[in-house]
Amino acid sequence: MAAEVVVATPQIRDQETTPFFESVNRSFTKAALLLDYPRGLLEQIRVCNKVYYMQFPVRIRGEIQVIQGWRAEHSHHRLPCKGGIRYAETVDQDEIMALAALMTYKCAIVNVPFGGAKGGIKINPRNYTEEELERITRRYTVELIQKNFIGPSLDVPAPDYGTGPREMAWIADTYMTFRPDDINALACVTGKPVEQGGVRGRTEATGLGVYFGMREALSIPELVRPLRLNPGLEGKRIIVQGFGNVGYHAARFLQQEGDAVITAVVEWDGAVYNPNGIDVQELAQHRKETGSVLHYPKAKTIPLEERDSVLEYECDILLPAALESQIHRYNAPRIKAKIVAEAANGPVTATAEEILLQRGILVLPDIFLNAGGVVVSYFEWLKNIAHVRLGRLEKRFEERTNQRLVDMVERLTGQSLTSLERQLLQRGPDELDLVRSGLEDTMIGAFHEVWEIYKSRANVQDLRTAAFICAIDKIATAYFQLGIFP
Ligand code: NAD
Repeated sequence: MAAEVVVATPQIRDQETTPFFESVNRSFTKAALLLDYPRGLLEQIRVCNKVYYMQFPVRIRGEIQVIQGWRAEHSHHRLPCKGGIRYAETVDQDEIMALAALMTYKCAIVNVPFGGAKGGIKINPRNYTEEELERITRRYTVELIQKNFIGPSLDVPAPDYGTGPREMAWIADTYMTFRPDDINALACVTGKPVEQGGVRGRTEATGLGVYFGMREALSIPELVRPLRLNPGLEGKRIIVQGFGNVGYHAARFLQQEGDAVITAVVEWDGAVYNPNGIDVQELAQHRKETGSVLHYPKAKTIPLEERDSVLEYECDILLPAALESQIHRYNAPRIKAKIVAEAANGPVTATAEEILLQRGILVLPDIFLNAGGVVVSYFEWLKNIAHVRLGRLEKRFEERTNQRLVDMVERLTGQSLTSLERQLLQRGPDELDLVRSGLEDTMIGAFHEVWEIYKSRANVQDLRTAAFICAIDKIATAYFQLGIFP
C-alpha cells in the first residue's frame, strides 16, 4: 500500500499545453476543494503510487534497438490495478501517470473494484513488422513479470491506443509461460481474442459504452435544452476525431442505434467531410481497401495541413477519440460544437475546459464516458477467474422457462405465435447479450450517480467535477474500510 517508486525518470512532456498529469490533477483539485476529507487522504488519492521505467534491448533487422517502456500503478486502494498498454511515439512518463490516474477515477465511477494503472512503449507500431512487435511485446511483458507489475491479483493490462487483442494474446502467452502453476494466469490481461480466453463484446465495448453514455446524457432535457438542442441523439451532427477502436465503434453505434449523422471523420493523415452524413461501415470498408479514410468517394477529402481545422467545423457534437490534449487553449475558443464528448482520455486540457465551459459548451468527461472498456474488461477478468463462460449455467434454464411461458400464453389466448416471434421470446441470453446488458446497465447507472451530484450540489458547475466527486467519495470510502485513515 505504501507509495513506492521503483525506477523513475523525471520526464515532463515537452508541449505547449499544460502537462497531462498536471491537467488531470487540476480537475482533481477542483473537486477535492469542495470535499471535507483529511488533506492527507486526498493527497494519497491524488498521487501515483508506483512507476516502473524500463529500457530493454530488442534485435530489429540485425540491429539492437533500445526500447523505452513504462508501467504506472496509480492506486492500490483496490487490487488488482487495471489499465491499458499504449504504443505510441508520444508516450512518456507524465502521460502514463496521467492515464493511470484517470483509470483509478474511472473504475470508481463505474463501480469496478480495481485500482488504476497504465503502461506504454515509446514506439510507432507502424514502423515495425508483426514479428518485431511480438518480440517487443513479449520482452516488455517479461520486464513486468520480473518486477511484479503484472498478475491476475496485482495488475491487469488491457488494450489502448496502438494495441489490440493480438498484443494481449502475446502478453497472456508470455505470462503463462513464466507462471505455469498460476491457475488464474489467463486473467493476467484482458482484451484477449475470444479463442484465447477473451470475452465476447470486449473489442467494441468502449465505443458502445460511449454510445450508451451519450444516449443517457442527451436524454436529459435539463442538460440539453440550455444548449438549444432537442433531447436525444437522432439527427445530431457529429464530428469524430480518430477512427480507431474507440472512434470507429462509437461512430457505428451512434449512427446505427442512435440515428445520429456523422459529418466528418478526422484521422492522422487528414479528414473526410460530408455535411449530409458519412456511412461509417462504408468508410471503414474504404479504409480497409485503401489503407486510409482519405479519398472516400462520398465525402470531401481534407488534406493533412488542414486536418485539425475540421475540429472547428460547425456541428452539434465533437467526439475526440484519438489522443490527449487535442482541444487546448489555442483552439478551444474556436470550437463550434455544443457538446464535446470525450471518447479519448484527456482530449480536453484543463485550460481548454475552462474556456469551453465559459462559452456554454457541455463537456461529457472521459472518466465517465469511455469507461465501457474497463467495465467489459472486468467481466472478462471475472470469466477468467471463474473459469466459466458467461451465461453457461443459466442459458438453457431460461429458455425452458420462457418456452413454458409462451406455451401458457398461447393456451390461454388461443392464439399462436409465428416461429420468429417464438424464437425471439424463448431465446436465453448468450455471453454477448449478458456483456452488453451489463455494460448498458453500468453506463446508465454511472451517469445517474454523476448527474445526481451535479444536480444536488449548488457549488458543482460541470459534469467533470461531479464525476471526480463521485470517484473521490468512493475511493475515500475504500480507504476508510481498509482502516488506513480513521
Ligand atoms: P486506436 O489506436 O485503435 O485508434 C486511434 C486512432 O486515432 C487511430 O486510427 C489513429 O490513426 C488516429 N489518430 C492518431 N493521431 C490522430 C490525429 N492527430 N488526428 C486524428 N486521428 C488521429 O486507439 P483507441 O484504442 O481507439 O484509443 C483512442 C483513445 O481512446 C485513447 O485516448 C485511449 O486512451 C482511449 N481509450 C481507449 C480504450 C480502449 O478500450 N481501446 C478505452 C478507454 C479509452
